[in-house]
Amino acid sequence: MSNTPYEAVIGLEVHCQLQTVSKAFSPDPATYGAAPNTHVDPISLGHPGTLPVLNRELVVYTIRMGLATHSRIAPRSFFARKHYFYPDLPKGYQISQYETPICEGGYVEFKAEDGTRRRIRLTRIHMEEDAGKSLHDQDPYATLLDYNRSGVPLIEVVSEPDLRTPREAALFLQKIRQIVRYLGICDGNMEEGSLRCDANVSVRPGGSTALGTKTEVKNMNSFRHVERALDFEIDRQIRLCRAGRDVVQETLLWDAVRQETRSMRSKEEAHDYRYFPDPDLTPVVVDASLLSSIRSTLPEMPEARLHRYTTALGLPDYDAGLLTEERAVADFFEDTLAHLEDEPDARTAKAVANVVMTDVMRVLNERNMDITAFPIPPARLAELVRLRLDDQVSSSGAQALFDAMLEDDRAPLVLAREKNLMQVSDTAALLPCVQEVLADHPRQVRQYLEGKTGLIGFFVGQVMRTFDGAPDPRLVRALLEAQLEALRT
Ligand code: ADP
Ligand code: MG
Repeated sequence: MSNTPYEAVIGLEVHCQLQTVSKAFSPDPATYGAAPNTHVDPISLGHPGTLPVLNRELVVYTIRMGLATHSRIAPRSFFARKHYFYPDLPKGYQISQYETPICEGGYVEFKAEDGTRRRIRLTRIHMEEDAGKSLHDQDPYATLLDYNRSGVPLIEVVSEPDLRTPREAALFLQKIRQIVRYLGICDGNMEEGSLRCDANVSVRPGGSTALGTKTEVKNMNSFRHVERALDFEIDRQIRLCRAGRDVVQETLLWDAVRQETRSMRSKEEAHDYRYFPDPDLTPVVVDASLLSSIRSTLPEMPEARLHRYTTALGLPDYDAGLLTEERAVADFFEDTLAHLEDEPDARTAKAVANVVMTDVMRVLNERNMDITAFPIPPARLAELVRLRLDDQVSSSGAQALFDAMLEDDRAPLVLAREKNLMQVSDTAALLPCVQEVLADHPRQVRQYLEGKTGLIGFFVGQVMRTFDGAPDPRLVRALLEAQLEALRT
């Protein structure tokens, strides 16, 4: 049996920090990056006698996520206390949802690498609070604690064990990130820990439907770590199985330096946490009117947008995918398009798509900048696209104009005139220059008339170079051909 093919089974638990103004159960600000221990009112610090008050925004944000992932929203759900001791948890328990999560039974879909659509079921999405942060690298002798994060609202998205490869797990995580960013409920910043993931994985002989014993790799904050850790774990588990040994159910840490998983603790069971309903908090009641008001504020989600771009706007799949990856980019694209036409046609849409995908995105990458900080506003960019569509500037002229607009916020028309980039399509203006070029090159004119018609390119180049301004090359060519034909007679 030693070469039985094995298959991996993976389920993710994703934590997303919500961008609410205040914390889950206290008026402390929920924002990241403040000086340590400045967002620490008595509730955040778990002082005896304080009482939590549920932040309504937390419930609204979670329902947004639930609706966007096709989940059932529970009309009544409860908070529970999950008890454990750790210095970053001053109350000695975390407020979370246990038996009754607010969302159940949803799913997300994404395109796998082989182009097939994958649907991953979600077991649940529940609300909870974050713990404080232990800082191990600030002081050589001590671990320091920053309680700003304690009580910051989180949602935990738990998937069914529907994922089969590390790559697929990373794509799923990217999808979750895209959705929370579209919804504007979490910034998805993995470096700052606003999006974190625990990966559960087991292996089983191919064809088997039973689940093997799983291990759980805790708290990874990059797509690459998730993929690498799963690769490592799957390989380790398969080797154990091939050697006839058992996988031990345990909780692991990914060591990114040594590129291996390390045992953190043996698996704890739910009863170890002594869960019970939090008597300080009332049930979360969601009525139909709250649901429908939240539903009416949901943005158009990436799939729907992509579909609209390929159908109504006639964009290629690739363009539509790239433009809808991030909501702010898609918004920018649509704003620009709206400044051009009320009912854009495919040619206009493609022209705007091109400038956003190539020029705008290049600058964003070079300057490591978010599109919301992009120096050219959509209205101005639209003016540039209009000049190009009307052939008033050439494609290289448009490029030069775009670069100029990055540094100068005057209208592109003004800049194009000032920089001599307007395409001259005025025969009367061009003719003297055309005639001069022909007069200056009698040898080439003779060769042309003897049949070396390829020289037309040479003449066009001469006119483009000597004319003061940006002539339309097609017009120059036509004028030259007419003049040369006239010389034959
Ligand atoms: P636990 O009780 O250990 O927290 P759960 O049943 O709550 O386990 O599942 C936690 C996560 O682990 C879910 O994402 C689930 O899909 C995944 N999971 C459960 N069993 C397995 C398994 N045998 N192999 C891989 N993933 C699993
Ligand atoms: Mg669990």
